[in-house]
Amino acid sequence: PDPFPISSTHLIYISDPAGGSLYGRPYVSVKYMYIYVCFHYLSPTTSKSLCISQASQMSTLSSSLVYLLLLASLCLPSSGPRLVTGIPPGPVVQCTSGNTNCLVHNGYGAFLDGTNCRVAAAAYPSTESELLRFVSDASLANQKMKVVTRYSHSIPKLCCPGGPDGTGLVISTEKLNHVVRVDVQSRRITVESGITLHELIEAGATHGLALTHSPYWLGLSLGGMLCTGAHGSSFVGKGGAVHEYVVGMKIVVPTTWPDVDGYFAKVISLEEDDPDLLAAKVSLGVLGVISQ
Ligand SMILES: Cc1cc2nc3c(=O)[nH]c(=O)nc-3n(C[C@H](O)[C@H](O)[C@H](O)COP(=O)(O)OP(=O)(O)OC[C@H]3O[C@@H](n4cnc5c(N)ncnc54)[C@H](O)[C@@H]3O)c2cc1C
Repeated sequence: PDPFPISSTHLIYISDPAGGSLYGRPYVSVKYMYIYVCFHYLSPTTSKSLCISQASQMSTLSSSLVYLLLLASLCLPSSGPRLVTGIPPGPVVQCTSGNTNCLVHNGYGAFLDGTNCRVAAAAYPSTESELLRFVSDASLANQKMKVVTRYSHSIPKLCCPGGPDGTGLVISTEKLNHVVRVDVQSRRITVESGITLHELIEAGATHGLALTHSPYWLGLSLGGMLCTGAHGSSFVGKGGAVHEYVVGMKIVVPTTWPDVDGYFAKVISLEEDDPDLLAAKVSLGVLGVISQ
């Protein structure tokens, strides 16, 4: 029997595919550390979310406890929509000495294939010029690099740099999350790529702006959403994918030769009419580091 009391005024659905499997049967696996269920309420006048998150090692939870948690979550809508807070995942990069010799995983605690990602170092730029320097240094050292985001939500091992295990560099966009410019008139906002969906929505809302569509979890970063072509549903507008609404990008790419400033990296700006913008938008993170 459908546990959701769907009425004509409220539509309740589970948007997370993992939530879909929870609906039928709680997912119990040593690979997954989090149970995260989100209900979104849509009515003609309001849109609210109720999220329940249990950050425990799932293997130590008995499946009946998971069922109990789920049951409790399913009962809550009957008392009316309300907001609760969830617990975000902990750091996805853990280093043994400063920012070197690190283990990287995704927000679930493990990649799909069950393997680890070991890297030589992690970098945390907070400005574009710091980012340029990190990319340049790695480029000069012929070191493989990849971007890791604040919560690294992708299940595949996308954020792991190639090359021999333990030799690469991850560049975190955790601190590259600032709002650069808001142009209310043209309804355009310029942000750094590490900004989370939550921060982006808040930044827009401060100026009366909103995204047409968004993927399902507020902890995703803009860079991650673009790179994977992540989308929500597409009832109105150009389409449901976030990248459909991107009109320009700045990307830091490694170079073989030093540029005028001596960096082995450069910043490329792609404007709205640049055909390369289409490729740069959904790159799985292999065409350089998106700065803004
Ligand atoms: C192929 C794919 C499609 C998905 N589609 C959807 C969807 O349609 N709707 C939905 O709700 N969810 C979707 N997801 C799940 C989730 O929304 C995405 O995984 C999302 O990318 C996670 O965002 P994140 O910020 O945690 O990025 P991460 O998982 O940390 O990174 C994703 C990729 O982007 C790269 N990257 C991130 N930031 C930058 C940057 N600044 N510069 C360069 N590279 C960067 C990373 O190196 C990595 O390769 C999808 C996942 C995958 C793997």
